[in-house]
Amino acid sequence: VFANVVQAPEDPILGVTVAYNKDTSPNKLNLGVGAYRTEEGKPLVLNVVRRAEQILVNDQARVKEYLPIVGLAEFNKLSAKLILGADSPAIAESRVTTVQGLSGTGSLRVGAEFLARHYHQRTIYIPLPTWGNHPKIFTIAGLSVKTYRYYDPATRGLDFQGLLEDLGAAPSGAIVLLHACAHNPTGVDPTLEQWEQIRQLMRSKALLPFFDSAYQGFASGSLDIDAQPVRLFVADGGECLVAQSYAKNMGLYGERVGALSIVCKKADVSSRVESQLKLVIRPMYSNPPLHGASIVATVLKDRDLYNEWTVELKAMADRIITMRQKLFDALTARGTPGDWSHIIKQIGMFTFTGLNSEQVAFMTKEYHIYMTSDGRISMAGLSSKTVPHLADAIHAAVTR
Ligand code: PMP
Repeated sequence: VFANVVQAPEDPILGVTVAYNKDTSPNKLNLGVGAYRTEEGKPLVLNVVRRAEQILVNDQARVKEYLPIVGLAEFNKLSAKLILGADSPAIAESRVTTVQGLSGTGSLRVGAEFLARHYHQRTIYIPLPTWGNHPKIFTIAGLSVKTYRYYDPATRGLDFQGLLEDLGAAPSGAIVLLHACAHNPTGVDPTLEQWEQIRQLMRSKALLPFFDSAYQGFASGSLDIDAQPVRLFVADGGECLVAQSYAKNMGLYGERVGALSIVCKKADVSSRVESQLKLVIRPMYSNPPLHGASIVATVLKDRDLYNEWTVELKAMADRIITMRQKLFDALTARGTPGDWSHIIKQIGMFTFTGLNSEQVAFMTKEYHIYMTSDGRISMAGLSSKTVPHLADAIHAAVTR
């Protein structure tokens, strides 16, 4: 009965790893997927996560019962506090409802499903370009996806004028997806002053902000600094949605732990919103997994563990910043034609190199370096040892 099912294409990002795994070269390098690697090129489990897991294992009172539909209450509270700030008036006034989600992706999806059912505007504006899963998540939830200008290839920076024009022309009430920090794939973020202008424009047109916060702590190394854009919008008393992921900042990729917060104007509205979120979640996956949320809650509620986490997080962010400098220096040393200063200016896990798809294909074929065809490289996958190989490949690609 399934004989007519056609072969689907590989996912453009995860497919890079599939191709990488098939390559037998000892020099192969995977800069496709956005997962942190150590200087030795190995995945990293944070020490603070190991400690939290030990605490959980040793607690004989812990059972494996189902969580409520909305997830672990303590985790939800701590997650809202992490992104909105310990002193957030919205939290103090009980205007925020938070549900545990299946990492960032699941949290975005639950938010999208809720909006499709209960919000009067069906159009969501996403930046151009954006993370490849965004249009799929929102379309499948029943929203209509449009784009706003974001990246300017000429400057390899923000097209701020284009962004303001496109959001200014959006219909009143439209939803706008904003990367809270460390924009993926471009590594280009607005300045705080630009965020303030975006906020004013969006509020004046009643555009609804939906923040995707997948890299809190990874951009600057500080959890509070990276949360500033979200807090700016919450401080004005208006509504917004925030999807959080602990994949990158706590290295919990496969545990699938995240949260969706919806900030409302009144406490009674937020409790009605929560009741509807439960109706979205129950038929999708019933209730979320216990283990990852327990790890996060254990870390966030203990001052000592929390402090250790911030140190480990900063070390990851700093290693990435060091890789940016080393790659820039290596290209400068080779006299590679072009301006490569964007490598040190861009923020977060990725560099949007500006290499085109043919150059990428050349680097994969000749140098066994794997990345998405848009020229995005994961700086977290680089090490001091592999920088020269990458710099040789880029140099060869742009001078051939
Ligand atoms: N949003 C963005 C911008 C991302 O880059 C990612 C991860 N690549 C996610 C959301 C979601 O990731 P996850 O579901 O693993 O938390």
